[in-house]
Amino acid sequence: MDLRSVYSKVYVLRLGHRPARDKRITTHVGLVARAFGANGFILEGVCDEAVFESLRKVLKVWGGSMVLECGVKGENYVEMWRGSGGEVIHLTMYGLNVDDVIDVIRVSAKPKLIVVGAEKVEKFYYEASDYNVAVGSQPHSEVSALAVFLDRLFRGRWTNIIFEGAKLKIIPHSRGKMVIDVGE
Ligand code: SAM
Repeated sequence: MDLRSVYSKVYVLRLGHRPARDKRITTHVGLVARAFGANGFILEGVCDEAVFESLRKVLKVWGGSMVLECGVKGENYVEMWRGSGGEVIHLTMYGLNVDDVIDVIRVSAKPKLIVVGAEKVEKFYYEASDYNVAVGSQPHSEVSALAVFLDRLFRGRWTNIIFEGAKLKIIPHSRGKMVIDVGE
């Protein structure tokens, strides 16, 4: 089953991207979003073409589709999301433990906006979010927090997603690399 049929939208909003130093980590947030079952990646503040170029390349070769947006004002996006019936989940080490809230989040069919920060996240997001969720109460990274959260949300079933339109497919192999060309 394609997980996107359970929730119409699971989008990731990445706050505070600094083009001079965050290209790689922001790209990794986008790659985790795609691979772990989200269907939208929104970059707040700036439009960093290098990040989107990398994500588009992965989508072209490995398939799948995602809504990609940039340059939005984070606060407006969160308010618009909630106003249109969605719920907002802010990942922060100060939040409630993921194990204590994930079942409630999972059963709600509302579109989900998952917010991750870079450095300091403004108070607004703590107050405006439906859930402030901690993936353990220790600082680590937006990439790891997002991966663990999505894995829990989808109970690990994201590993079975079939990415439509893929040109390449990996055949799992005990040694070496086996990749087949499935594109036209
Ligand atoms: N002190 C910052 C904070 O407010 O959480 C840590 C910043 S961390 C470099 C960047 C982002 O990673 C955070 O905004 C948050 O989204 C995510 N993050 C880091 N550790 C986390 C944790 N234990 N649980 C959930 N999210 C976390």
